[in-house]
Amino acid sequence: MNDTERPTWCDIDLTALENNYKAIQTHVGNTEVMPIVKADAYGHGLAQVATKLEELNVPCLGVAYVEEGVSLRKAGITTPIHVLGGAVERQIPLFLEHNLVFTAPSVDKLCQINEAAEAANTKAAVHLKIDTGMERIGVHHYNAETLFGAALQCPAVEVEGVFTHFASADQPDLEFAGVQLERFLEALEFYPQHSLPYPKRHIANSAAIVALPEAHLDLVRPGLLLYGIAPTIETSRKINLQPVLSWRSEVIYFKVVEAGNPVSYGSTWAPEASTRVVTLPVGYADGYRRALSNKAQVIINDQLHDVVGRVCMDQTMVDIKDSSAYNGDEVTLIGSSDAHQITVEDLAQWSETIPYEVLTAITARVPRRWHT
Ligand SMILES: *Cc1c(COP(=O)(O)O)cnc(C)c1O
Repeated sequence: MNDTERPTWCDIDLTALENNYKAIQTHVGNTEVMPIVKADAYGHGLAQVATKLEELNVPCLGVAYVEEGVSLRKAGITTPIHVLGGAVERQIPLFLEHNLVFTAPSVDKLCQINEAAEAANTKAAVHLKIDTGMERIGVHHYNAETLFGAALQCPAVEVEGVFTHFASADQPDLEFAGVQLERFLEALEFYPQHSLPYPKRHIANSAAIVALPEAHLDLVRPGLLLYGIAPTIETSRKINLQPVLSWRSEVIYFKVVEAGNPVSYGSTWAPEASTRVVTLPVGYADGYRRALSNKAQVIINDQLHDVVGRVCMDQTMVDIKDSSAYNGDEVTLIGSSDAHQITVEDLAQWSETIPYEVLTAITARVPRRWHT
């Protein structure tokens, strides 16, 4: 850490990341694990997380956009990188130039990839995307044969995998997930029917890795689990995960607020009796969401305290009642102290969203400190 750095930061525990990766690998046995590092590795730092995973010899990495793959190549990552989100035609050359694995979610796109690879006198590594019920990108499972057949007519395309995505594997009712898995396996019958070996078959995200062992197939795609967060409460009992990210700040101001005097924009909160209020240099422009106003708690000196009044763009106020706190005292927004813990799940609940959004909302203004 450099002494002049901002007094609000995230600590990223790369040893916890390693432990989570190994716990997932143990859980899925012989199935390959493709860690998902899209969206700045869910806010944990794309290059740093990928570098750690490359040291662990992961077979491949998953990102959403080609730009993320290019940025990893520029950071020196040589592990295969699968771009899950497809490609617009004008970006196809970027994939070839940086040796990225394509997703082909339509016959048209497959042909564009084939032509570009032929023109570049190379072969394109491709995973075919089937839609089994998400209605997002991918060829419908009932038309999958057209995509599988077209791929056989594309000499510059190497089909490495076929995949689909669950819409609701994180729900208690797994009936629709079961239907999607069945549709996927049925579509894949194309390969034995044509006496062809299966490409790598994959469908499981974090929720399915835990809830649907029969969906592991040849490869699994964990994102959230890798960062130590359980997609459902049941998950936490099945895999031993460690949170990777903590979010800290410091007390930068102390004042006594007299009874009835409202705090922050909109005057949404006022103390009933005179109380002590501290200010933190963090706000919604850092991703500490405004929806946390009058809902969240933080830890200061191993005690839980309430966020009071509206969270501002750059500052947040906390009622410490009759406790003491001094400028420079550490504040935990996400993370543990001796007696208390505030989780990403807690922030998600307080702000009525999901852990994914809490993590990816933490903006670039918040410095990250990586620990090995
Ligand atoms: C983001 C993503 C994942 C990872 O999802 P988690 O729920 O975080 O495990 C897996 N597969 C695809 C296609 C994705 O886009």
